Amino acid sequence: MKKVMKLIVVGALCAMTAFVLAACGGSSSSDSSSSGAASGGKYTIATDTAFAPFEYANSSGQYEGIDIDLLEAIAKDQGFEYELNPLGFDAALQAVQADQADGVIAGMSITDERKKVFDFSDAYYDSTVCCAVADSKYAKLEDLKGEKVAVKKGTQSEAWANSIADEYGFTCVEFDTSDIMYQDVSAGNSAACFEDTPVMGYAISTGNVKLQIIEEVDSSSEYATPYGFAVNKGKNAELMEKFNAGLKNIKDNGTYDEIVSKYVKSK
Ligand code: GLN
Repeated sequence: MKKVMKLIVVGALCAMTAFVLAACGGSSSSDSSSSGAASGGKYTIATDTAFAPFEYANSSGQYEGIDIDLLEAIAKDQGFEYELNPLGFDAALQAVQADQADGVIAGMSITDERKKVFDFSDAYYDSTVCCAVADSKYAKLEDLKGEKVAVKKGTQSEAWANSIADEYGFTCVEFDTSDIMYQDVSAGNSAACFEDTPVMGYAISTGNVKLQIIEEVDSSSEYATPYGFAVNKGKNAELMEKFNAGLKNIKDNGTYDEIVSKYVKSK
């Protein structure tokens, strides 16, 4: 709990800075609805729709966030072009599996299960999963007995919720996107939601949602694994090589830190 509070406080402190910087950051990568494997030298990269601070549409409809800026910096470093395709998390993974997109960057956790069907880049961001509520009468997981909780389709936080649903006696209801999931909790339809901690913490600290984190797995949990960029297994090896080379370069030259601190002050 102490760690969660710290995260929220730090998040709140950086929210204004991140907001100001984001407003003049001007991420220029264009989002496009076109899909399909690399054509005309351009890769199609699928992403989530509403997963701040990793990817989200700003007030002018442009996508920005840590993933978006990292991809742009890596593409620039490695000299490749891409089109961004914000499909939503589960749809983005499916598009890569169906070779309709060349890669996915979407705060995607690197897991052994996913490694069977995806090739992952080097890890680029540590994460954990958490449970958040709107109503303070739900102070701990035990209070969710007999309640409905909101989970996001195909995610690690959903997997965690499913793994403890019987123990705590709650029922999981699936949503496609994080924003709709939070709304369901705010409206009181679901008692809680399950989400990645950096994303939930950011939404709370920016005042976008009035939720509170009541539980977080620790970093050694199998549900708390870092994020990686992914391609379909055995495909797009060249893109993966470029991503890893570019990621290393932007870590070495300070661009990575600049990007992360633009959105998250404590990193
Ligand atoms: N990190 C989580 C996962 O990979 C959620 C990602 C997301 O919702 N964009 O399952």
